[in-house]
Amino acid sequence: MKRVFHYIGGEFRPPSAGNYLEDLDPATGEVIAEVADGDATDIDAAVAAASRAFPSWRRTPAEERSSLLMRLADLIEENFEELAALESLDSGKPIALARRLDVPRAVRNFRFFATAILHAETKCHPMDDRALNYTLRQPVGVAGLISPWNLPLYLLTWKVAPAVAAGNCCVAKPSELTPLTANRLAELAREAGFPPGVINVVQGRGAGAGRALTAHPDVPLISFTGGTRTGADVMALAGPLFKKVSLELGGKNPNIVFADADLEEAVATSISSSFSNQGEICLCGSRIFVERTIYDDFLARFLDRAKKLEVGDPQDPSTEVGALISEAHLRKVSGYVALAREEGGEVLCGGKRPTSLPERLRGGWFLEPTVVTGLDCSRRVMQEEIFGPVVTVTPFDTPDEAVAFANSSRYGLSASVWTRDLGKAHRVAAAIECGTVWVNTWLLRDLRVPFGGMKESGVGREGGFESLDFFTEAKNVCIKL
Ligand code: NDP
Repeated sequence: MKRVFHYIGGEFRPPSAGNYLEDLDPATGEVIAEVADGDATDIDAAVAAASRAFPSWRRTPAEERSSLLMRLADLIEENFEELAALESLDSGKPIALARRLDVPRAVRNFRFFATAILHAETKCHPMDDRALNYTLRQPVGVAGLISPWNLPLYLLTWKVAPAVAAGNCCVAKPSELTPLTANRLAELAREAGFPPGVINVVQGRGAGAGRALTAHPDVPLISFTGGTRTGADVMALAGPLFKKVSLELGGKNPNIVFADADLEEAVATSISSSFSNQGEICLCGSRIFVERTIYDDFLARFLDRAKKLEVGDPQDPSTEVGALISEAHLRKVSGYVALAREEGGEVLCGGKRPTSLPERLRGGWFLEPTVVTGLDCSRRVMQEEIFGPVVTVTPFDTPDEAVAFANSSRYGLSASVWTRDLGKAHRVAAAIECGTVWVNTWLLRDLRVPFGGMKESGVGREGGFESLDFFTEAKNVCIKL
């Protein structure tokens, strides 16, 4: 059985306490690896290695840091197929999606920040003829990076790349459910030539390694992506230690379709925004609001396509919907389907395990794409993040009502708006309480733009120079003339 170790100070090390967790294939339920279950001792060792590497890494010229990031991006590209296969195996996502989204984005993350640091500028504030102020941006130290299981390599590299590009050393803690691509990334970082201690990976559970990293006194910065409740725990631990904290949390994103939209495109993209990655993307549009005059037409077309989605073996290139991450998560998502019925909703399709799965997948955690109607915005199914292939569809009558429905959630991560009326698009985009609004599209990401959530979807922004700002301290130097 393959054993996944920590990567600390340039070496792969077994867990100090000798404990391992089982890593399961979501498509079959079978054990695929044993993963080091890190604890506070392992975190101490990783933070010590990162602290030792920091003085030299922070002084390494930007061009050298940039070249190492570029080399790592090239290595990810050279190992593209292996990484896509590992990601699909570990998370249950369709291999086609890992090829189209996860691995290319990991490459782009490193290239983007490798070049960004070569073009960084700083501000100067002259005080007439009295003084000159300039802002130095300096690395913070050891960055703690905690990432979830839904886009394991994509989100891990979204943190590692800006952290080390800016001159920090890092200790990453991937999800215990998806350790494989983080481990492979560590191997590739070593091959790329990163000095020992610049990038460290401690595997294990959130309650163990994750909390120990968050609470570590020598880690002044935490970048966390995960659930809102976990984010509150991270904030509670990090707050009294005055750490810099960035929280990218959950979403319950509205997808608003006006009557004047290109209906065919709105339906096709809404299928993606509802069911991509089995609905396990924080940006999925899980609440669809459709203008009443086209509601029946939209719903008929949407249902037709949802029923035709290929649910099956994640390793099969034609699969469109794979397996949910774990048995517990499948139970949670299925629980919301039952709750939708209890709350008076109607389940128009899905809600059960597909009947056509081959024998090999009988132990896997699959759920058909599920469409629910008939619930008002106050219902739990409309309020709580389900994070699975379950969407609600609700009619609305006016733009104001659509905005009110959109904003009736505690979350505020993203939204999509479908209309050909440019003025309406601007007005509605401005009125929705969230960090990203897509008009006539979904998941179109420019890495330069700010990314993050309002309300319970998070604190702070990352993306582009906002990431480099987060991973550095601003220091003003005032020179008297
Ligand atoms: P969790 O919050 O359960 O876990 C996220 C990470 O935190 C994992 O590495 C986890 O480890 C670790 N962790 C768990 N508990 C603690 C703790 N007390 N202290 C420190 N670390 C901890 O989220 P999921 O992995 O279930 O991911 C799904 C969630 O992530 C969804 O809510 C989704 O919306 C959100 N998400 C947000 C995104 C955004 O950009 N806003 C993007 C993608 C996902 P372990 O898994 O080993 O327990």
